[in-house]
Amino acid sequence: MKVTIAKFPKFSVNAELDEAKKRMTFWLNGNLNEDVSLVDVSKYLFKAKDSFKLLVLNLEKLTYMNSKGLSLWTTFIQHIQPKFDLMYDTLSETFVDRVTAMPQMIGTEGTRVYQFEAPYHCKKCNTTVTQLIEVAKIKPMNSKKIAAPSFNCGTCNTVMSFDDVETIYLHFLDRIQPASKP
Ligand SMILES: [Zn+2]
Repeated sequence: MKVTIAKFPKFSVNAELDEAKKRMTFWLNGNLNEDVSLVDVSKYLFKAKDSFKLLVLNLEKLTYMNSKGLSLWTTFIQHIQPKFDLMYDTLSETFVDRVTAMPQMIGTEGTRVYQFEAPYHCKKCNTTVTQLIEVAKIKPMNSKKIAAPSFNCGTCNTVMSFDDVETIYLHFLDRIQPASKP
């Protein structure tokens, strides 16, 4: 069953509920800023906590987040995480950029993440593209060595470069654990 949990002019939260598996998937879309309230989303989750166990958050379409949005989100996660078995499906580039500055906004140490977006640049075509990286593929268990994978340009096949400071961008991986596809 798919439902809309919250709707604002530039932000929405949609959910898919699987009662048999006791699992909810939430998609957060758009701009998370001072025009948004997550109170209804929290209320919904608190009501649902006895019927559902696993909460999967998909932030692939979270395209903007200002400092107010960041603070809303951090409070939200701190309230919600203790009530559920929480994991992330996809993190947008916007979200990863923010997590870099404020690691606790992703949740407690060891929070599970399936995949995240990262920026790559092709010097030959002078284009920047977003690639999806699976956490399990670059963060093997019990290994401290983490490096971004390489991708070839879809247009000219040249090996692209990571379009950010790799060690800073990937630093949030220290805090999380890999998850298989939810
Ligand atoms: Zn190219």
